[in-house]
Amino acid sequence: MKPDCVRKNLQGEVLARIQQAGFTVVGMKQINMTKAMAEGFYAVHKGRPFFDGLVEFMTSGACVPVALEKDNAVADYRTLIGATDPKDAAPGTIRKDFADNKGENIVHGSDSAENGIIEVSYFFAQTELL
Ligand code: UDP
Ligand code: MG
Repeated sequence: MKPDCVRKNLQGEVLARIQQAGFTVVGMKQINMTKAMAEGFYAVHKGRPFFDGLVEFMTSGACVPVALEKDNAVADYRTLIGATDPKDAAPGTIRKDFADNKGENIVHGSDSAENGIIEVSYFFAQTELL
């Protein structure tokens, strides 16, 4: 959950939707990312025109990283959150209902199981996971 989600006090509502969709919460915490952490997390987007703004946004307040488990998790989570830009997101999705724009879009989502494992280990020690 990104800083806009925390600022809007939507953590509970967003997490409820995720749990109702059948995901198990394997890990959860609240953190203030440093610039270096945000740059590292989004390193794949380095050089893109939106990169600096993205890092600034992700360090503008606390984030709530959540490690999730489910069969078909990546695809099902994408369906639940909707398209990156809320204008393009399907009705009833988290981004359609809560996001202001393509940059401030409430939640992150891993794009593959492989990256999901890398991203979970970016935020969580083994002792913090179910
Ligand atoms: N982003 C942005 N402008 C863009 C594309 C992406 O600000 O034109 C931000 C947005 O917060 C997005 C994140 O960069 O969630 C990562 O982009 P990606 O294309 O991976 O979207 P996602 O996987 O989050 O849907
Ligand atoms: Mg992505």
